[in-house]
Amino acid sequence: MRPNLLDPLFAPAASLPGVGPKTGKLLDRLLVEASGQDASRGTSHARVVDLLFHLPHATVDRRNRPKIADAPLDQIVTIEAKVVDHQPPGPRSKAPYKVLVEDETGDILLVFFLANPQWIERSLPLGETRWVSGKLELWDGHRQMVHPDRVLDAAGLAKLPPVEPVYGLTEGLYQKILSKAIAAALTRLPVLPEWHRYEAVELPNMLSFGEALKRVHEPQDPADIAPMSPARLRLAYDELLAHQLSLMLVRASMRQRGGRAHEERGEIAAKIAAALPFALTGAQVQAREDIRRDLTAPTRMLRLLQGDVGSGKTVVALFAMAHVVEAGRQAALMAPTEILARQHYEGMAGLTGAAGLRLALLTGRDKASERARTLAALAAGEIDIVIGTHALFQEAVSFRDLGLAIVDEQHRFGVHQRLALGEKGAAVDILVMTATPIPRTLVLSYFGDMDISTLREKPPGRQSIDTRALPLDRLDEVIERLAEAIASGARAYWVCPLVAESEELDVAAAEERFDLLSQFFGNKVGLVHGKMKAQDKDRAMARFATGETQILVATTVIEVGVDVPEATIIIIEHAERFGLAQLHQLRGRVGRGSAKSSCVLLYKTPLGETAKARINVMRETQDGFLIAEEDLRLRGEGEVLGTRQSGAPGFRLAQLDVHGDLLALARAEAQQVMSANPKLEGEAGQALRLLLYLFERDAAVKLLQAG
Ligand code: ADP
Ligand code: MG
Repeated sequence: MRPNLLDPLFAPAASLPGVGPKTGKLLDRLLVEASGQDASRGTSHARVVDLLFHLPHATVDRRNRPKIADAPLDQIVTIEAKVVDHQPPGPRSKAPYKVLVEDETGDILLVFFLANPQWIERSLPLGETRWVSGKLELWDGHRQMVHPDRVLDAAGLAKLPPVEPVYGLTEGLYQKILSKAIAAALTRLPVLPEWHRYEAVELPNMLSFGEALKRVHEPQDPADIAPMSPARLRLAYDELLAHQLSLMLVRASMRQRGGRAHEERGEIAAKIAAALPFALTGAQVQAREDIRRDLTAPTRMLRLLQGDVGSGKTVVALFAMAHVVEAGRQAALMAPTEILARQHYEGMAGLTGAAGLRLALLTGRDKASERARTLAALAAGEIDIVIGTHALFQEAVSFRDLGLAIVDEQHRFGVHQRLALGEKGAAVDILVMTATPIPRTLVLSYFGDMDISTLREKPPGRQSIDTRALPLDRLDEVIERLAEAIASGARAYWVCPLVAESEELDVAAAEERFDLLSQFFGNKVGLVHGKMKAQDKDRAMARFATGETQILVATTVIEVGVDVPEATIIIIEHAERFGLAQLHQLRGRVGRGSAKSSCVLLYKTPLGETAKARINVMRETQDGFLIAEEDLRLRGEGEVLGTRQSGAPGFRLAQLDVHGDLLALARAEAQQVMSANPKLEGEAGQALRLLLYLFERDAAVKLLQAG
């Protein structure tokens, strides 16, 4: 249960003074609906804490108080002046109401269109001194201020915040009203115990959590709201610490449920190594070693194996599976698509055969009788390694003794599947493989609960892929050059883009391109898209793989993992519509053999800034990790991992692109807590629990109570 101390923060925002039902609805829209927060928060109503976590993105600085003669134009200035003349418009005139004010250096006209004359007379009494704040402009050679933001007397001036926060709004909500609501929310902030050991965190000028929130909502200087300001750092750090700590609590509880030590003699591995046509790279050897250590230890493995396309993850996975099989258990590998599952199966069959391992394939498309046989063999332990799609984790599938589950291309699966597969056996070790190189900051934030092995080094002999970009109106030229390549035996992918709104449209685009290319290349062209029957898809892929067709027109179904080493050309149409990660994945379909490969990015003009930047990145580098980092910069973290769809919560106070460094600090601190006080006991533990509740990591705290 959430401590009562936090109750005021989780009260509805509508309970704040000055927030009526209408504003309440607008706040719901701004802070809940439009914020992309997941439904697990339990209420669709904005709460006090949501207001407090809605940080200003800009400020208005009212500290500039020049004399009239020195006042700059087009900047916010606050001027002290005497009211010397009122110039109301004539009756029924549409002219503005003007007020002349002056100081000893000059005068300015205040201009009010359609204003209430009584208000003007009351606010700017003749002969009195007032302060007006707003922007000056030149009109007809005279300085004027149209609709001053503020007209204040001495008392009002004393209350004028020197710097005002500016908040993101939603239609119908005004800055003033939102500011008032947030000011009211700030008064509800309880005094919280400190959860940081100050000596452990080297943040400059560290403020308390409450002080930090106050500072960003009541900035004294525009610098106070800058992402690297002490206040913002503290808030970001707290959120990241809560996140890391909750991930580690989840992991600890998973591990507590016990793991098993798998003993390996290494005989099967030796057979596989003997059958391999190549030697492992240094990175592969290291990853293999990491995994072997995990598998041999009595704790549960939870490891992420990340490596760019073509970095050779599969063989590392195979060694891991061989390890648990030698220990008398079974292993499963789940791929995101049928094509990939089949490809893994076919790719491994030779090696597993040489090592005497019994391998099976299980997909949603197996014939009923075949499927029944596979299921029975799995349950009886007559199959050592099974490769399949998500069909593997349906209820009907049971293992005699599953020791290791591997998930390939993890970003395609939700967290649920990842956990579901852990339930298929006693203390199943888990290895997740991702071909999307994920920047370190993101690995820590989303997979903080996992150990990581990285294949950064590629197998030797890989050639760089010549990448160029051309506008779509030079299609003729591209086809001409493609014709030359095809004549000399080359094989090429032709990728048509995903039109997000409609798969039908994608297919139509692909079919149209297929028709056009068929006019040039006849039956040398094949077509594969997501709407085709599975058998037709396989057939099209197979014909391309054997070289019967030399051009494969495809929608993005080929994005993940498809391996035809003879393909050396990839043409990506409407490259401007793809994200960087996707372009990189697509390009990874070529350059898999020893022959020189090329990639043509066809784009529609005019190119937007982001699309231009993406295409440049693609031309400049083939380092998937660099590309992923650029992707993060260009898109923001959610989309890189596809978390918008999978519903993983984003951060509210931390911005990973600027606060990435804090993540490592938070992780170190969370680790320290986990080793010193894993049950979060005592005063320090209570404070950390409060932190977890504050950031709604209630589930993690529950694990503490259960454990
Ligand atoms: P990915 O990491 O994308 O899954 P794969 O495991 O499919 O990469 O490997 C890509 C290709 O590289 C495969 O054809 C594989 O046989 C080959 N390969 C893997 N490791 C090595 C190595 N150490 N030396 C040479 N080729 C390798
Ligand atoms: Mg792979």
